Amino acid sequence: MRYDLQKILESMEQMHKTTRGNSFCMHGGECTLIPRGDFETILKKMYELQGQSAIQTNGYTINNDLIRLFKNYRTNVGVSIDGDGELNALRGFPDNPEKNRKYTDKVLANILKMKKEGIHVGIITVLHKVNASTTDKLEKLLKFILFLRSNDIKGGRLNLMWSNHPEAKQYQLTPEQASNAWLFLYENLKQYPDHHWQPFREFVDNLLGFAQSSCSLGKCDYFCTYGAKTILPDGTLGNCDRTHQEEHAYTRASDKPTYERYEILKQTDCKGCRYWNVCFGGCPAEGVDGDWRNKTRWCEPIYSLYEKVESDLKAMFPNINLVSDHNEIDDYFDMLRSGKSIQPFKKMSRDKAVNPSSWKGVKMKKQKEKAKVPINAHGDCAHGDHTDHGDSS
Ligand code: SF4
Ligand code: SF4
Repeated sequence: MRYDLQKILESMEQMHKTTRGNSFCMHGGECTLIPRGDFETILKKMYELQGQSAIQTNGYTINNDLIRLFKNYRTNVGVSIDGDGELNALRGFPDNPEKNRKYTDKVLANILKMKKEGIHVGIITVLHKVNASTTDKLEKLLKFILFLRSNDIKGGRLNLMWSNHPEAKQYQLTPEQASNAWLFLYENLKQYPDHHWQPFREFVDNLLGFAQSSCSLGKCDYFCTYGAKTILPDGTLGNCDRTHQEEHAYTRASDKPTYERYEILKQTDCKGCRYWNVCFGGCPAEGVDGDWRNKTRWCEPIYSLYEKVESDLKAMFPNINLVSDHNEIDDYFDMLRSGKSIQPFKKMSRDKAVNPSSWKGVKMKKQKEKAKVPINAHGDCAHGDHTDHGDSS
């Protein structure tokens, strides 16, 4: 692919000035395949601008030279792998099981090597028919996750694979399978207090009313994606690469997102949903029938996971105050942006309650002061597939 390195570097500088706080990540294709000098130049620019760098890679090409660069430029390395053995069959050499097995072994060895060398490694595992459609496959996947854990890699993302292309779509889980997969992994991982696999931790944070942790649950404008901006090969600014599915990349409509999709969803597909304020209809790129205006095709797994997390939190702390308890809140996204938030632990806090308790009826103290702490607005939402994959340290 042709690209204009100078223009890309200029855009990085420009973007850094205008969106401080957001972090860069080099994606592909496979970004480690560009000429090594250019690769290093981009890592170096990221490092100069933000004191670290990040890439997303298939992990196959990692060698000592790349590890040296990762150390020099404090690179967070996100590796895409869907499990070991046959679970990873859709990556590498999908048509050749023997080659694919060797490919997966090498990727896994590279992950462990980077970890040993002190590189921050995060994992992105995509859930699909090959690795997550049955209990048997999920048990193998869990074993893989626990194997990573035994090597001090304790987090990453478990994203649901989706596509609108018929050839790829055959591997997409049904909504029911996707719910089962998330619930199975959530149940089995929750016994480990230090795990940070997503979306499980994020869903807890969202119900507690902290800033929406992932762009996919934060009112993304399909034509002005706030959670992810891309610098296209010619240096122009584009939207999140999930919007490139129609085989062309939209340039940004403006730098101010609009929210019409959400006004409509709230009155149609998502009307009355208990989890509206922690979901907002999900990522537009995943819209039902490939239409960004519709709610996400993953409504069922999102709803089931929120329901399970909510019931666990309530079982442990009946007095906890969650966003889902407040159907009177018109728009929690706007509330956060105005600097307000719910107080999840107010009935358990000596500052706020007389006789605080996790379960008893409590009398609230009168509060004169309003929340003073500024809350992160949507611009700080993580994109959900690279630097927020959960470092493994
Ligand atoms: S992944 Fe995030 S930024 Fe990209 S389209 Fe979906 S919600 Fe928007
Ligand atoms: S869980 Fe489903 S119905 Fe509820 S807000 Fe999300 S997409 Fe809409």
